Amino acid sequence: NKFIVIGAGILGASTAYHLAKLGASVTVIDRKDQGQATDAAAGIICPWLSQRRNKAWYTLAKNGAAYYESLIEALEADGEKDTGYRKVGAISLHTETAKLEAMEERATNRRMDAPEIGEVYRLNEDDTNQLFPPLDEAYASVYVSGAARVNGRAVRDALINGAKKHGATFIEDSASLLNQGTNIEGVKVGEQVIHADRVIVTAGAWASDLLSPIGIDLQVKGQKAQIAHLQLEGVERAHMPVVMPPTNQYILTFDDGEVVVGATYEDGKEGDLNVTAGGLHEILHKALQVAPGLKSATYKEARVGFRPVTPNFMPIIGEVPNMTGLFLANGLGSSGLTVGPYLGGQLAKLALGQQVEIDLDLYRVDLALT
Ligand code: FAD
Repeated sequence: NKFIVIGAGILGASTAYHLAKLGASVTVIDRKDQGQATDAAAGIICPWLSQRRNKAWYTLAKNGAAYYESLIEALEADGEKDTGYRKVGAISLHTETAKLEAMEERATNRRMDAPEIGEVYRLNEDDTNQLFPPLDEAYASVYVSGAARVNGRAVRDALINGAKKHGATFIEDSASLLNQGTNIEGVKVGEQVIHADRVIVTAGAWASDLLSPIGIDLQVKGQKAQIAHLQLEGVERAHMPVVMPPTNQYILTFDDGEVVVGATYEDGKEGDLNVTAGGLHEILHKALQVAPGLKSATYKEARVGFRPVTPNFMPIIGEVPNMTGLFLANGLGSSGLTVGPYLGGQLAKLALGQQVEIDLDLYRVDLALT
């Protein structure tokens, strides 16, 4: 059987890697759109403190975080050592004791079925500040040792390289779908026709454009996100924890002192790649309020990406109804670096007709079809 994967952000790259490792013949086609979510993403792997109550979402995020360790080992065994992945822990900040207690309780309860969360404990203001000196001294925190950060670009490239090592072919171009009635025959890339038994669409915010010519109306949108990269000089501690302020913002630091702060959540801005004054102001204002020590950091760059979102912000995965041979997954929203590698593994199994671990009924594709 021949497989084609369209779209190689983190989700498609993982799907291709797992398919190739399972012995399938795979061609991956990706046109590297500007605004690829994976390319712009921050890199926080810490789903356990989220207040989002949706169990179906949490299951994927929890499994995704747990899966990283074995994935990184597998990639390293394939010679792919540069993934930017490190378990640096996270500090979730607050100034109110009651809020900190509630956070600690939530994390401790979740540890019962998520041991990968590691140690959970409260830190006073001084200890919190020691872990991330640019912080305002007013914040205490809950520390979670199992949280990690990852470089989205690096892990995506490691997955693609790993897939190639296991025999996958990579084409950088734009693909369109080729069907005969309800049967998927393959894809068209320029003038070239590539036949396949199964086509897997992991095209992120662009999936609707790809599917509409064959009469499928997928309700996926690209939620614009702007994010800024700063450079902190003289960083003594290379492995600073991920910082999660009480807002919807975050601060994470890579080993060389590169600090990522973000991000905006902008609906109705599909395809708009502009870095705006308002966007940068929002991100920097919120970050500097929490961490005034970042005022002296130098500004490196801003990135723009489109989070792929479904109408109810739930991931979807499955075979497209009323079609044969067409599979997709999408809707990873703001947690796709966490969920993507795991869900890609599940999608590979599904397309191969193997047993999956997740309850597919919770993530049905038709929930995002009209
Ligand atoms: P994408 O990465 O967007 O990839 C889709 C790919 O499909 C693109 O390369 C595109 O060119 C290709 N494509 C589309 N159509 C075609 C076609 N017809 N032919 C060929 N190729 C095609 N998640 C976390 O877990 N933690 C974080 O800290 C985090 N931070 C984020 C910060 C920002 C600023 C953003 C934008 C996102 C963040 N996310 C984070 C979310 C995460 O990045 C996304 O959910 C995830 O990357 C989505 O991956 P994807 O593979 O579905 O889509």
